[in-house]
Amino acid sequence: MIKKILKLAGALLLALCAVMIVKALLLKSRQIEVPPLCIPEISDSAILRLAGAIQIPTVSFEDTTQIDPLQFIALHDYLEVNFPNVFSQLKQEKYNRFGLLFEWTGSNPKLNPIVLMAHQDVVPVVAGEWGKDPFSAENDGTFLWGRGTLDDKGALIAILESVEMLLSEGFRPERTIFLAFGNDEEIGGKGARAIAAALSAKGVEAEYVLDEGMVITRGMVPMINKPVALIGTSEKGYLSVELSCDFEGGHSSTPKPETAISILSEAVSQVTKHLPETHFTDPVNNFIRYIGPEIPWPARIVFANQWILGGLIKKIYSQTPAGDALIRTTTAPTILQAGVKDNILPTSARAIINLRLLPGDSSKKIITHLNNAINDKRVRIKAIGFLHEPAPVSPIHSAGFKIIQKSIRQTYPETVIAPTLMLATSDSYYYSGISKNIYKFAPYQLEPEDLARIHGNNERIKIDDYKQMIGFYYRLIRNSTNK
Ligand SMILES: [Zn+2]
Repeated sequence: MIKKILKLAGALLLALCAVMIVKALLLKSRQIEVPPLCIPEISDSAILRLAGAIQIPTVSFEDTTQIDPLQFIALHDYLEVNFPNVFSQLKQEKYNRFGLLFEWTGSNPKLNPIVLMAHQDVVPVVAGEWGKDPFSAENDGTFLWGRGTLDDKGALIAILESVEMLLSEGFRPERTIFLAFGNDEEIGGKGARAIAAALSAKGVEAEYVLDEGMVITRGMVPMINKPVALIGTSEKGYLSVELSCDFEGGHSSTPKPETAISILSEAVSQVTKHLPETHFTDPVNNFIRYIGPEIPWPARIVFANQWILGGLIKKIYSQTPAGDALIRTTTAPTILQAGVKDNILPTSARAIINLRLLPGDSSKKIITHLNNAINDKRVRIKAIGFLHEPAPVSPIHSAGFKIIQKSIRQTYPETVIAPTLMLATSDSYYYSGISKNIYKFAPYQLEPEDLARIHGNNERIKIDDYKQMIGFYYRLIRNSTNK
């Protein structure tokens, strides 16, 4: 009997292996084939124009009294001088004082417009930690250095360059094109929110919206040697909660077994022990579908068989913090406060936990999860400050996604394209009222070591990469307007 069962189990296992191999064999690449197109000749004066924008420190500070409005005025004056066709031929409006909205009216009002986004502000620098002056825009022949080259003046100025080029060629789009440049993305994006509200009031229904977010990665997607262009189709939500506890104080020479600090510490410990469940969201499922066929054997078998190896894939993801963040709402205790003196028992303690919500995990659901994990009525939980529910998921079968995909393949023929989930937040979050098709991608080409430069020290962009960015937006606009 046992022999029979073993035999049967062996046969089943063999059959299962065969099915898995066949599924891997049948995986078809989802990369589209388009003939590469030469990007238009981009002169070195384009680099000078980007350098000029980097030299204007439009820095966003959390303490908004530190923001210098004169820098934003200077940037606008600078753009007007350097992109004369854009400023003379497109309608221009300002929102939230420095948020810029341009409208390039199309010849066919029946076509839905598109929105190309970028932001004007940059994060502060720690000047002494840079090898170069962060605002001198030094060009060493290979790289242009400076705050904002990768986030996000590179995209901002590249979009303007491409529009200026098309205008000077006499190009007139069939479809209306909006250029939407928020002024405070780094501190919450009031500018973008105001621009999105204005577009919504105008009744705009955008065919698609393209904003910063994901990039072209080199050497960052395991097992893939080619560059991978990741297109964010959703972004995680943002929630901070305060845990607090009031408890009897007194002299530290006669403490009770429990104190405000011990109760709160236990609560924080429970929260980090009982993490929200992992799950695959549509953006990550689509990432697996797009990347699977590009992965070499035998690893391809795993990615072709998510239906049965989902648990193993989750394990692979969970091995790194960035991978785990793609399949889980993350839980990060960031602030802990209690006590004023070494010999006094504090009467209260508080902790802040920052959570990044996976699509499907609403703030309400996660707060209930935290309550269950802590399971102590003495600890109060409340949401505080900035809150974003997870963004809706944009489809990958839309015209917008296909246009972006085609434009990437034309400009970067060797590149593998994959949708994914963006872990950070962006201005495009506010645009869900005007389009279902919101994509988070700007063609910065990054290697692993570049990640630390964004919001860090020694930010820089490769000059050739920047020229290609202009070519990408130039193609994108042409592809979007059927010309
Ligand atoms: Zn940015």
